[in-house]
Amino acid sequence: MKHKICTLGSHSALQILKGGRDEGFETVLIAEKKRLKPYESFRVADHIIAVDKFADAKDRDDELAAMNAVLIPHASFVNAFSLAEIDELKTPYFGNKKVLAWETDRKKQRQWLAEAGLKLPRIFEKPSDIDTSVIIKFYGAQGGKGYFLAHNQKEFEEKIKQHPDQKYIIQEYIVGAPVYIHYFYSPLTEELELMGFDRRYESNVDSIGRISAKDQLDLNIETSYNIMGNTPLVVRESLLPEIFEMGEQVIAASKKWDSRGLFGPFCLETIVTPDLDFFVFEISARIVAGTNPYIHGSPYSDLRYNKPMSTGRRIAMEIRLAEEQNALERIFN
Ligand code: AMP
Repeated sequence: MKHKICTLGSHSALQILKGGRDEGFETVLIAEKKRLKPYESFRVADHIIAVDKFADAKDRDDELAAMNAVLIPHASFVNAFSLAEIDELKTPYFGNKKVLAWETDRKKQRQWLAEAGLKLPRIFEKPSDIDTSVIIKFYGAQGGKGYFLAHNQKEFEEKIKQHPDQKYIIQEYIVGAPVYIHYFYSPLTEELELMGFDRRYESNVDSIGRISAKDQLDLNIETSYNIMGNTPLVVRESLLPEIFEMGEQVIAASKKWDSRGLFGPFCLETIVTPDLDFFVFEISARIVAGTNPYIHGSPYSDLRYNKPMSTGRRIAMEIRLAEEQNALERIFN
């Protein structure tokens, strides 16, 4: 029995299921009852399993395995379960589960990116070390909500009072253009593909420029980075060689930690300075929502494939090729 492409109804599920269909797979969606509407309306799922909350999906593991489903992880998927729960799932999972532990541990993630030779913003272990502008980020999936800037220890101490008992990191604030780079690495062909780029659209930071600096001060606005959408982006063509190199370095570093390393879709989240230096502040080791503007393909996937090729479809294509080559053990966990 052929596999069925399965994911949770949020984040990039529409793209993943549409991509699965386009590659000839049946699709299964696990959706929360309160959020069924778009999935019914867009008709991308052949089977819908409705649950009260995503966490309940783990009780459907046997059913999913019997259907020959393969789970495609995205951010809402990894937030819904603990690493141990994901580890125990019987249903095949597209990707290397070992990478989840590197990604969720901020220290390991940093070590990985540093070993890949990428430029990283500095981290300040204690507030008294702050000697430049910093961004304070809270742990957990809050989509940038509540992040704030500080320029010295005093300002930090003042502002952190509004966030008691929250775990945070203090990171150097890089002034530049945010660029989110979408890659796909195929373990079957050992090729790194560039799928596209996006910018995030965050409230309120992306809209405070609509009012004058005086009004910003009068209103006492604090910037916040709560993501509400993504917009497409193309970059200067002269930057592409370095962008490929950065992705290749990340893959090579991951293979030193584990023989299979990172594969499938991933994203480097960067700020590009006026000197055109890429500072990487995070890696997402799976499909990112910034690929959603490209359900019909990006300019880059159009060059490479000459047919609509979203990242969701690229995942399904990898599964199809692995099925054809009898190589599923190379892409499943
Ligand atoms: P994150 O939750 O880490 O993806 O970051 C959310 C937002 O904060 C994004 O808009 C980034 O552009 C911005 N950001 C994160 N880290 C930095 C940094 N070190 N310097 C400048 N902006 C940053």
